[in-house]
Amino acid sequence: MSKTYVTRPALPPYEEYCREIRDLWESRFITNMGKKSRKLKEALQPWLGTDLVEVTVNGHSAIELAIQAFGLRGEIITTPFTFVSTANAIIRCGLTPVFCDIDPETWTIDPGKIEALITPKTSAILPVHVFGNVCRMEDIQEIAGRHHLKVIYDAAHAFAVQWNGRGIGAFGDASCFSFHATKVFNSVEGGAACFRDPEVLRRFSHLQNFGIADAEALDGIGPNAKMNEFAAAMGLCNLSRLQENLRLREAIDEAYREKLASVPGLRLPPVQPQAVRNFGYFPILLDPERFGATRDDVFSALKTVDIHTRKYFYPLVSDLIRPFFDAPRTETPAARKISESVLPLPIYQDLPEETVDRICDTILALHRRAV
Ligand SMILES: *Cc1c(COP(=O)(O)O)cnc(C)c1O
Repeated sequence: MSKTYVTRPALPPYEEYCREIRDLWESRFITNMGKKSRKLKEALQPWLGTDLVEVTVNGHSAIELAIQAFGLRGEIITTPFTFVSTANAIIRCGLTPVFCDIDPETWTIDPGKIEALITPKTSAILPVHVFGNVCRMEDIQEIAGRHHLKVIYDAAHAFAVQWNGRGIGAFGDASCFSFHATKVFNSVEGGAACFRDPEVLRRFSHLQNFGIADAEALDGIGPNAKMNEFAAAMGLCNLSRLQENLRLREAIDEAYREKLASVPGLRLPPVQPQAVRNFGYFPILLDPERFGATRDDVFSALKTVDIHTRKYFYPLVSDLIRPFFDAPRTETPAARKISESVLPLPIYQDLPEETVDRICDTILALHRRAV
């Protein structure tokens, strides 16, 4: 029995990647916004729903540079139910993350809890489309508009998601994507950011190249966060297969939903009727009272049959950063509860059906033993 992890990166056939990179040996143009990354930027546009996009070395840098491109200061309201990158980006830019509780239905930031956290120092809201669940964007926009705040979405989980027929990159002042190996679409490492305002996009593009605006002037003090041509080539290869991979993921999603339907105390991931999903994750919620076993019991039982899941997102980011940064202490009971009961199950394009069966059988056996 081979080990199964929550995800497994998509890779094109070896020869296809070799064909894609061959001309790099002739041009010797292997980084600094070359042909491949320009081509990738164009190919991404229909998926993102906007042509105001830049590609980056990874998703984390996209968030940091978006914060810098808007010139934000002070506090940013965000969610504790996310990957550490979200809060780290805020802190590394010299700002303070203020953690807002999440909506128990979508697990994304709860717009009803945002206004109580706004202070004169608040400059932006940084919600996360966690597991590809789309944030309550209309409500968030309304609050942001009223208080003159920027909205930057951490859309690392949401590439290829659509909302009411529009690509998810078309919403907010900015949306940041990750093309890391573990995401639905990868360029080995990579990322992108979309903007509403072309001026901010221009600034962002300069910042990711040390801030260089032209040969004799800077547009800010930037790091090096450019995507190289080998990564862009991988992105081009993987993008041409994405539609097919999403279809395969959808079949796994359906198999899980069928096999795990109507188990007391086991909640399946939310489905939003306005959204086209990307099937990036399959997180279940376990209520130990009704299910008869805890999330940690399920985690351990799966491990004994060589299924290695990860407790995403536990602990909460607000707890993880505590030894290193003194963020305001806010109560986030909904996030805490979900963080303690969530377990994302393996899902990826080539996950064998018999592995899905083994996972579901193991989970169902735990439940049967308990009742
Ligand atoms: C993956 C991820 C990031 C960071 O993206 P990288 O490409 O790994 O730098 C940021 N936020 C969330 C929610 C993520 O899952």
